[in-house]
Amino acid sequence: MTATRKSIGSNIAARTAKSYVPAEAQAVQDIYGMYVFNDGVMRQRLPKDVYKKLAKTISNHDSLDPSIADTVAAAMKDWAVELGATHYTHWFHPLTGMTAEKHDAFLTPDENGRALQQFSGTSLTQGEPDASSFPSGGIRATFEARGYTAWDPTSPAFVRMNANGATLFIPTAFCSYTGEALDKKTPLLRSEAALSKAGTRLLKILGSSATEKVYSTAGLEQEYFLVDMEYYNQRPDLVATGRTLFGAASYKGQSMDDHYFGSIKNRILTYMEDTEKALYKLGIPVKTRHNEVAPGQYEVAPVFESANVAVDHNMVVMEVMKEIAAKHGMKMLVHEKPFAGLNGSGKHCNWSMGDNTGQNLLEPGKTPHDNLQFMVILAAIIRGVDKYAKLLRVTVAHAGNDHRLGANEAPPAIISVFLGDELNRIVQELIKGAKPGGKDAGTIQLGSTVLPALPKDNTDRNRTSPFAFTGNKFEFRALGASQHVAGPVFFINTIVADSLDYMSDQIEASMKAGSSMSDAADKVVKDVFSTHQRVIFNGDGYSQAWEDEAAKRGLPNLKSTPEAAKHFMDDESIELFGRYKVLSKGEIESRYNIKLENYILTLEIESNATRDMARNIIVPAALKYQAELANSINAAAAAGSTPKAQKNLLAKVTGLIDQLIEATEALDAAAETEHGHDALKTAMHTRETLIPAMGLVREKADALEALVDDAIWPLPKYREMLMLS
Ligand code: ADP
Ligand code: MG
Repeated sequence: MTATRKSIGSNIAARTAKSYVPAEAQAVQDIYGMYVFNDGVMRQRLPKDVYKKLAKTISNHDSLDPSIADTVAAAMKDWAVELGATHYTHWFHPLTGMTAEKHDAFLTPDENGRALQQFSGTSLTQGEPDASSFPSGGIRATFEARGYTAWDPTSPAFVRMNANGATLFIPTAFCSYTGEALDKKTPLLRSEAALSKAGTRLLKILGSSATEKVYSTAGLEQEYFLVDMEYYNQRPDLVATGRTLFGAASYKGQSMDDHYFGSIKNRILTYMEDTEKALYKLGIPVKTRHNEVAPGQYEVAPVFESANVAVDHNMVVMEVMKEIAAKHGMKMLVHEKPFAGLNGSGKHCNWSMGDNTGQNLLEPGKTPHDNLQFMVILAAIIRGVDKYAKLLRVTVAHAGNDHRLGANEAPPAIISVFLGDELNRIVQELIKGAKPGGKDAGTIQLGSTVLPALPKDNTDRNRTSPFAFTGNKFEFRALGASQHVAGPVFFINTIVADSLDYMSDQIEASMKAGSSMSDAADKVVKDVFSTHQRVIFNGDGYSQAWEDEAAKRGLPNLKSTPEAAKHFMDDESIELFGRYKVLSKGEIESRYNIKLENYILTLEIESNATRDMARNIIVPAALKYQAELANSINAAAAAGSTPKAQKNLLAKVTGLIDQLIEATEALDAAAETEHGHDALKTAMHTRETLIPAMGLVREKADALEALVDDAIWPLPKYREMLMLS
């Protein structure tokens, strides 16, 4: 064992960075999107009338005209076959939080014993994977486990290359035959429809007559760790759970703050370059790469896209980056907290809305009209975040993220909105009804209120806020790195749709009573800011003072997954998602059950691995060291010395071994407690018993790691795993 741990270290030093992507023509403009059935390819390969119909379907989110399906399928197949594809797959997003695929060949044998490659319109638009083994949270009895996948033409199909062939990936939604959503994409698409309807209605009332469609946009910043594959393979905890369940802090950690934005080591940069080329070919616009706060931690961020496409792309980003990491002899970790005591990994969801005229609805404008529209939409979002804060918390609640939210590194578990000083001042003055003075010379008219010109560039960025306005978009920062982003996006979309409709209702009512549009808008903006200003917070989200203040303001502070998850079933949640036809009560119930099941299972797996590693790996190593110490004390005594400090050391080691064994037995007992059928109670109970019991086992084991002979210690240490050269 020991020799292996040591030799890994020397091997790493010898490992040179090398590229796994062939070095031929790799100019970005030549390779970007080469494996995507995008608008350009469609225009080129489809008859004009078919292309027009398809383009209209895509931009209006209509259902596909069946008369063109065969033509589209044939063109897509020919294109894919030219790239070497032999198979296609309906690619979908079951409630596991991962993606799923079942491959079928284009191969069709003919009567002459030859083979054709065929692909029909029905094969493109609909598939029938066996749904029985996917989690449904009790939505369907297994015997009627018929699910179907339906093509989502709004997210482009793509070809994935493999060493021995290629496969056409068709993004799809996954539903039961009775129409219930069994996946993450369906509610996202439904929420886009709701947002578009509510957004278009409000913009028309505010005078944007050219708006026909509104959609959400997302830019997903992905954090991750890289660990050498050989170390990874020697850590059963990382392999089984994605995080280390043991490990004493390394000498250096992140205390010197020298990793963030530091120069990127050659082996890592080479890996990043490989991933970027692979992602460019798939039309995924990754733009930013840098070292993150913790040693061994990095980030990749793309240019934003329509949220549905961005969500699909984020799944591909995580998959491709994991695959390529393996080729480079590394493991990519997207767990929220792979290493205790170091920064965890999150995923910032930058969110905004766009419309068909090309405007970003969260861009503060130059003209009075633009600013009026901006303030109405800003107020709407603040209302939504305050009114449905618990739901925003639900959507980021899972076992991994419990290590971050509320700990002093990620946003707190309290959902609040950061606006920045300038915008906040304007809001406060609006609430007071005062005439705001500004250091900026320009003033604009919002209804009867005179406002200073809105700040264009909001540079003071508060890193502790979970929901921050960053100039022309909101940044929802509470997501965990491993998360599928469809959930957070469809929650935001639905909450915002509700608020946009509220603004429309209020403005229409005032106008009916004789107000002008701008006075009506002015009034609702003031009312909404007054009612919901408690959610605005621009200070330090990590401080105890904020926790106290938030409690006074009545803001929810849901510290763990079970505490948050239960609000998914609140009447308010069922009413909201039902009204916008995003999720039915049954669909919510199934997702709620799955959330809790996942939580319980995750803790159970972690506790099993903790017990196993303590017993089979750590105690035996400590016993060896104990015997070594005892032998050397005996030998020293026999030779006439009095090894006093050594005896103390032996007593310390012996004590810790005893305590470790006892803590492991206590964890056995905790894991065996009976629980009933109520998932919420079980989750709460699991949390209250397993987490502290695992913590105690770890505490004793880590203390031993600090004492035991390094040559005996069987697990790769933090200082080794985190220092990739
Ligand atoms: P930071 O690290 O400071 O948070 P980055 O520049 O790394 O900022 O990331 C900002 C992200 O926000 C990028 O992915 C960017 O494309 C995205 N973004 C910019 N504008 C919008 C928008 N209108 N809608 C959604 N995302 C956006
Ligand atoms: Mg960010």
